[in-house]
Amino acid sequence: MARLYGRMALEEYKRKRDFKKTVEPAGGKPLPAKIKGASRFVIQKHAARRLHYDFRLEMEGVLKSWALPKGLPWKRGEKHLAVEVEDHPIEYEDFEGIIPEGQYGGGTVMVWDRGNYRVYGEQPVKSLKEGKLHLVLDGEKAKDEWTLVRIRGREGEKNQWLILKTGTDAKPISKKLEDHSVKTGRTMRQIAEARDAEWESGREADASPTSKFKARIRDAIKKKKIMRL
Ligand code: MN
Repeated sequence: MARLYGRMALEEYKRKRDFKKTVEPAGGKPLPAKIKGASRFVIQKHAARRLHYDFRLEMEGVLKSWALPKGLPWKRGEKHLAVEVEDHPIEYEDFEGIIPEGQYGGGTVMVWDRGNYRVYGEQPVKSLKEGKLHLVLDGEKAKDEWTLVRIRGREGEKNQWLILKTGTDAKPISKKLEDHSVKTGRTMRQIAEARDAEWESGREADASPTSKFKARIRDAIKKKKIMRL
């Protein structure tokens, strides 16, 4: 029941997106088999209007999500803002690529880190409702404990949280790792340039001289490959 509830809660996610124009997952695929006791997390680096990090925890069949304008804090006692956003489908964990300009969240998305997480107290859903999640992340970059705490925002907004570095200091990651996808090893720039996940057919025809020129080059390369065969 809890899972079904979670899947139905994707309405806001779906309402904000036009799946004819973005290659982000539409949700609704069957859930993958779950390893007992381990739930997944993902952090996506997202260069939208403003660069931020999307922190997502698998829970109740969806990805509970927060936007972190400054990413994770690394030094014990440091706290960064975490704004709760709409649930995302589980398949979003794998999404890396480009959301077309003009679409919700338009910009480049990198799978910045992912792995398993645990919550102290063993009742993640209850802890989430109560507004305090004491997390242990076992990712490729983030390996330690952090705590998410809900705070009262201006005008009583309920989506404002803080993510605190608890436990011990963690070593901040290197500049190179900061710009490194754990899914493909690419940098943000390489993802933006590759455009491999962009759904070309859904986009309005771009008839600028530059794009016509690029299209001609693509055609020429295709022909050359065929000739070589
Ligand atoms: Mn985002």
